[in-house]
Amino acid sequence: MKHEPLSFIPKDAEGPWKTYLEQVDRVIPYLGPLAYWAETLKRPKRILIVDVPIRMDDGTVAHFEGYRVHHNTSRGPAKGGVRYHPAVTLSEVMALAAWMTIKNAAVGLPFGGGKGGIRVDPRKLSSAEIERLTRRYTSEIGVLIGPKKDIPAPDVGTGQREMAWMMDTYSMNVGATAPGVVTGKPIPLGGSLGRQDATGNGVFFVAAAAAKKINLPIEGSRVIIQGFGNVGNAAARAFHDHGARVVGIADVTGAIYNEKGIDPYDLLKYVAEAGGVRGYPKAEPVPAAEFFGLPAEIAVPAALEGAITEQNAWKIKAKMVVEGANGPTTPAADDILRERGILVVPDVIANAGGVIVSYFEWVQDFNSYFWTEEEVNENLRRVITEAFESVWQTSKDRKVPLRTAAYIVAATRVLEARALRGLYP
Ligand code: NAD
Repeated sequence: MKHEPLSFIPKDAEGPWKTYLEQVDRVIPYLGPLAYWAETLKRPKRILIVDVPIRMDDGTVAHFEGYRVHHNTSRGPAKGGVRYHPAVTLSEVMALAAWMTIKNAAVGLPFGGGKGGIRVDPRKLSSAEIERLTRRYTSEIGVLIGPKKDIPAPDVGTGQREMAWMMDTYSMNVGATAPGVVTGKPIPLGGSLGRQDATGNGVFFVAAAAAKKINLPIEGSRVIIQGFGNVGNAAARAFHDHGARVVGIADVTGAIYNEKGIDPYDLLKYVAEAGGVRGYPKAEPVPAAEFFGLPAEIAVPAALEGAITEQNAWKIKAKMVVEGANGPTTPAADDILRERGILVVPDVIANAGGVIVSYFEWVQDFNSYFWTEEEVNENLRRVITEAFESVWQTSKDRKVPLRTAAYIVAATRVLEARALRGLYP
């Protein structure tokens, strides 16, 4: 079968899309007859690039470039976050959308994969400017999103506040309140209890299940976490609450270390004032480049893609890397970690807690019937742990790393749906 190459991505492009394609190539030999459909995984279904002009507070007009990508919708509506970051590119959003396809299928949610983003540094905009940016972007991608078509959620640089504006803008445009169009909303707008910390809690549940497999007690284990945003700080609190010692934390401002442990609740208060972990008086500063070499049993990358590469994979002392971020480990680094006997729990399982509770939020919005926080957390624990167990079993049965096992489970589900639906026309 011959396929026309994608013209908008250079064939030799580096970065997350290349990482994703290599991950797909690694799973194809395990797909049997479904490999016939594998090219489906290597191309986004649809891509929208939008111009987002806004009036700045000083009266000038600024233009930003935004994206919304549907990677695959064979198993249900597109689902995935919206990122505001100065390094956002089309190929990055394509990779993030594709990882959502794999993640949603790996944990068995009835969603396809989507993602969006705007190339912008939100820290340089006022709240009013971010609101105008968010509302205009939502209007521009309005042709793609909808409660049954594509349901955005928060990602890096966005949170409940942006989801409230997105929900309101979409609702104004369609003329009816539509809570189900985005997840990760504030509770009074149909958000779900437990959503805010769901990704970080999920990271902890998966880490605990994986630790059991390698006879590593969570209690007393040392943990290092890169990223102290939504995912990183919730994960830090969950590890801390269960008796682990969070000894190292890094964010964009710097990295800190205290062998006796850092109290994430106290650090949160400091970060709220100081804007980052740098200068935290109850820990030592460490060079960012040395962060993953710090002594620990568990390492959690929870910032951006490409954090663990050939350059630093050999320095890692942890027994286990649990991927809170999307795409933090390059394929070459994956191989190094594997050779060194370090267990890598892949993003598509480890950070699925966010989208699992997003799914619960979406279900609650459709039913207009809301669950208690205990129900949400217990269902999250059950769904993510079962998904981890089935990927672990696949990894043992097929004698492959956990990432390939997760891709076997996910790609099989996506391509089965693709084959059953058939091609139109
Ligand atoms: P966030 O914006 O809340 O936090 C990002 C954190 O990363 C911040 O602490 C920031 O300072 C830090 N950071 C950025 N660049 C860094 C660098 N070069 N070195 C060290 N730290 C750096 O974002 P988030 O929502 O916590 O997302 C983090 C990761 O988790 C992303 O990969 C995202 O795609 C993934 N993720 C998020 C969710 C979610 O529900 N928010 C769900 C699944 C996966």
